[in-house]
Amino acid sequence: MSETPVRVRFAPSPTGKLHVGGARTAIYNWAFARANHGTFILRIDDTDPERSTEENTQIILRAMRWLGLDWDEGPEVGGDFGPYKQTERAQLYRDAAQRLWDEGKAYPCFCTPEQLAADREAAQARKDPFQGYQRRCRDLDPAEARARIEAGEPYVLRIKVPEDRGDVVVRDAVHGDVTFAARELDDFVIQRTDGTPTYNFATVVDDAMMGITHVIRGDDHLSNTPRQVIVYEALGAPVPTFAHISMILGADGKKLSKRHGATNVEEYRDAGYLSDAFVNYLALLGWSLDGETTIIPRDVLAREFSLDHVSKNPATFDPKKLDWIQAEYIRSMSDADFADQVMLPELHEAGLVCDGFEADEAWVDALAAIVKPRTKFPADVVTVAAPVFATAETLAYDEKSVEKGLAKEGMGAVLDAARAALFGVDEWAPAAIDAALETLPEALDMKKRLVFQAVRVAVCGNMVSPPLGETMALVGREDCLARIDRARGMAL
Ligand code: GLU
Repeated sequence: MSETPVRVRFAPSPTGKLHVGGARTAIYNWAFARANHGTFILRIDDTDPERSTEENTQIILRAMRWLGLDWDEGPEVGGDFGPYKQTERAQLYRDAAQRLWDEGKAYPCFCTPEQLAADREAAQARKDPFQGYQRRCRDLDPAEARARIEAGEPYVLRIKVPEDRGDVVVRDAVHGDVTFAARELDDFVIQRTDGTPTYNFATVVDDAMMGITHVIRGDDHLSNTPRQVIVYEALGAPVPTFAHISMILGADGKKLSKRHGATNVEEYRDAGYLSDAFVNYLALLGWSLDGETTIIPRDVLAREFSLDHVSKNPATFDPKKLDWIQAEYIRSMSDADFADQVMLPELHEAGLVCDGFEADEAWVDALAAIVKPRTKFPADVVTVAAPVFATAETLAYDEKSVEKGLAKEGMGAVLDAARAALFGVDEWAPAAIDAALETLPEALDMKKRLVFQAVRVAVCGNMVSPPLGETMALVGREDCLARIDRARGMAL
């Protein structure tokens, strides 16, 4: 652990929903904070007024909550370094820019877009290695600048990159030292004509004021980093450690986008992915525990995450692997957890159980035991459990199953025999029910498969339902017999 307490932030721009790449960045920041007993900050970078919306902010907060990424400082929870929305920090950026100006580290620039374009073209024409801003206003006489401002001439503030600054080396925990040549660093704009800060300025003012020790973000920001380093230096603030994490690609090697399928976190939530499974999967997109472990529960991630196991190679989003992890999470749940976290909420949602539903615990566990192995996604619960919640009157009979399993010569006799056998079962429990049914094939001199199929269709309405004995035990004897009576009319 480093000596200064770790402080990291996730700083989404609410210009859209939380996408998979953003979620992974959030997970890494969260896990890094937890693993280092540090502080995880959520900051809303809403300085782009045209594209940022409050609705998106709310969607992002909801997605963060669903992901289980609790933040220690930020919207709704507060903290000592707020406000945590950039639009509420406008004065802080203006003050910081003013300070740099006062200290001679920033200066007003009056160049018009036309002037800048002409300068750029001229630099290209003479093949000047330095193609950035030509520092036209850098040495303006302060009194003249003041007079032009007072006369109402629009201006931006540019940072004054020190003459002798030299190359900027970004120390990156993932990429190592990355050197940016001095000539690539022009005196960039920190405050626009309307007084608003640019991204590179606002971000550093915030990160510096919030005491951020590690900046973990997508490597699309790596090229911004030398400029940010210049801002830290001008502000006299310590430069944090950077960790730029790779892009997430689709199977075709192109940047993950809508073309590849769902890209927003909420779409995965709505599709029924478990938050734990989803977080586990995203964590592995560019990080590994030991190069082989795939199932990494949240608490292990929060304990073991480290930047030195983050890869600089792009990660490929593999929906099959996500589904495999999802299946593993469901499989490894106890029946009781499955019932509480997956099954009952789904049954509730589908209206199969209502508020105050009180089944005895053993009944719920028995249902969970047959539903869980047949559930890949929560929505499967309702399909699998439907026959249990139906009654002899409401049970839906699948037409094809009836055709194949019931509407055949001899099946009427099977149902008659099954009814009699079941009627005589002493204790209505899976083993006894199965034992009663086991006697039928021989007594009827029929294939076991056909006998069980007929009973299955009669009681469950289809041929793919969970094990018969268990299901019938849950349905209850009376209703099973009533279903057989109803099905008798369809059998030949
Ligand atoms: N708001 C920026 C983004 O969403 C944050 C970048 C950063 O982490 O500095 O890309």
